[in-house]
Amino acid sequence: MRHTIFIFLLILVAIQTYAQRPTVEEYKMQQEQLKKSALLRELDSGVYYMDLEAYATADTKFRHVLENIKSVPSDLTFYFGKNSFYLKKYKQSIDWLTKYIQLKGTNGQYSEESASLLKLAETEYLKEKSNERQKAGEVLSSNYDIDCGPSGKVTCPVCKGDHVVIKKTAFGSEYTTCSYCNEHGLLTCEQYNLLLRGELKKAN
Ligand SMILES: [Zn+2]
Repeated sequence: MRHTIFIFLLILVAIQTYAQRPTVEEYKMQQEQLKKSALLRELDSGVYYMDLEAYATADTKFRHVLENIKSVPSDLTFYFGKNSFYLKKYKQSIDWLTKYIQLKGTNGQYSEESASLLKLAETEYLKEKSNERQKAGEVLSSNYDIDCGPSGKVTCPVCKGDHVVIKKTAFGSEYTTCSYCNEHGLLTCEQYNLLLRGELKKAN
C-alpha cells in the first residue's frame, strides 16, 4: 500500500514537471525578446557613436538594427534621419526625418530638432540637385536670350495667339482674356524671353 502511494506521488511530480516545462512558443518568444534587447543595445550604441560624430560607424549600427528588427522604433527614424544628414545623404535624411514628424507630430522629444534638420537637408538637397545639373552640363534654353527674328514678335504660347484662355469649370467653359499678350495674341521678344524664364508679369 505504501509503495503504491509512493509511486502515485512520483507520477504526480513527474506530470507537474512536464507541464511546467517551457513550451516551444514560450521558448520562441524568449529568443525573440533576447534578439530585440540586443538590437536595442545596438541602437543605443549607434546613438553613442553619432554623438561622437563617428557617423559611418553609427550608420553601420543603425542599418543593422533596421535590417533585423521587426518594427522600427520611432526614435530610430529620427536618429537615422539625423545621421544621414551628417553623412550628406540628404534625400535619405529628408525621408526619415519626415517619417519621424509624421509619427510624432510637433510634440515628440526630437520634433524640433527634426524640423530644423529637415529644413537644412532640403536646402542642401536642392543645392546638390542644381549642382548635378551643372555637372551634367545640361544646356537649358531658359538660360539664353532667344532671338525672335526680324519681326521681334512671337505668337503667345499661353493662349496660342487667340488672346483668349478657355478654362473648364464645373459650370462649363469660362473665357478670359490672356494676361500676357496684346490684343493680337503677340508677345514682344523681350516678353517672350521673360515668359520662358517664368519672369513675365501678368498685364491684367
Ligand atoms: Zn496670350
